[in-house]
Amino acid sequence: MALRRRDWLKTVVTAGFGALGTQVFDRVHAQTPSNVKSDQPLALKDYEPKSMLHVPETHVPRSRFPNIDFHTHLSWVDRKGQRDVVNHLATPAEILKVMDAKNVRVMVNLTGGYGPLLEETIRHWQQPHRDRFIVFTEPWYAKIKLANYSRFQAEQLEAAKKAGARGLKILKTLGLYLRENVTTGPLVKIDDKRFDEMWEAAGALDMPVAIHVSDPEAFFLPTDRFNERFEELSAHPDWSFHGKDYPTNAELQEARNRVMQRHPRTKFVALHTANSENLPYVSECLDRYPNMYVDIAARIGELGRQPRMSRKFFDKYQDRILFATDATPHGVETPQQIFGNELYEIYYRFLETEDEYFDYAPASIPPQGRWRIYGIGLPEQILKKVYYENAARLLGL
Ligand SMILES: [Zn+2]
Repeated sequence: MALRRRDWLKTVVTAGFGALGTQVFDRVHAQTPSNVKSDQPLALKDYEPKSMLHVPETHVPRSRFPNIDFHTHLSWVDRKGQRDVVNHLATPAEILKVMDAKNVRVMVNLTGGYGPLLEETIRHWQQPHRDRFIVFTEPWYAKIKLANYSRFQAEQLEAAKKAGARGLKILKTLGLYLRENVTTGPLVKIDDKRFDEMWEAAGALDMPVAIHVSDPEAFFLPTDRFNERFEELSAHPDWSFHGKDYPTNAELQEARNRVMQRHPRTKFVALHTANSENLPYVSECLDRYPNMYVDIAARIGELGRQPRMSRKFFDKYQDRILFATDATPHGVETPQQIFGNELYEIYYRFLETEDEYFDYAPASIPPQGRWRIYGIGLPEQILKKVYYENAARLLGL
């Protein structure tokens, strides 16, 4: 009778070890998880393969140079009943502790709100710690029906600057959510003329515009077996912009480009590396628009899976790339953004080491797609610029 494969393996492995070898073998294999049965396929969500590579693992507890985290969300504007209110996600003390441990000199809280809410955000974060926290303002979209909205929004920006805001944040709301009647009607385009005065004012007031346009390309495709972000989109079906009246990723990118072209005195930071799956396209944009910068927030998963292309990109645009994480305190929904020591250490490892094939987020399953990343080992002179100098110049520090 032929030996079953398992019995045969057992014979080979235990040969020469006698009874002890047999015991060890049986103990190890008795731990085989119960869900591995030939009649029950392993669910994708339960699959957590561990890499068997023997490669260097570098722990980078602090960035080699002090850094500015250009993209964080320490507060949000929330809707409570009929009122908009500021929701602070942490206390400054809680955040400062991690900042000091991880060498984060300054944090930019992009979602600072507008009007009286902005003033409240500044009082909570910026006023008590002027050298550590910077707050940006956001457009007051609910006022878009005002006849003189264009002027109103430009004046709001002036008032925000007086109140202490250092820049303007545009969420992907513009292009993907904001509609003519705020929540109903046709989508308002990114290059809608009603925002022209605001873009101009940002330039005149020397307030950089941090602009999030579009989303990963996979979010615009069907959530099917070919979609590389299938699990992420399955967990968050509302993140899909496939179908309905949504524009394409390319249309959104081009609308932003027209805005940058029309307002050459205004500096735009295209967040999330603008279109991180397509660095040749981002390079073209950077070549075409000298007023364009990018940050790397929540995109080391993308940059780190194309390490050779990324390394060249950092080399060429070393004066226009900003360190940023998209950190959100207690943000359980998005593991790649949860503020804390671990998040910063992964970013530092990506930028500073040449480690291979490691997780881009503190999570047991890679949350943005099932792949791992490679460090790009930037030289000190580029690290200094990306960590600190580029952002300091934009923010006038
Ligand atoms: Zn963000």
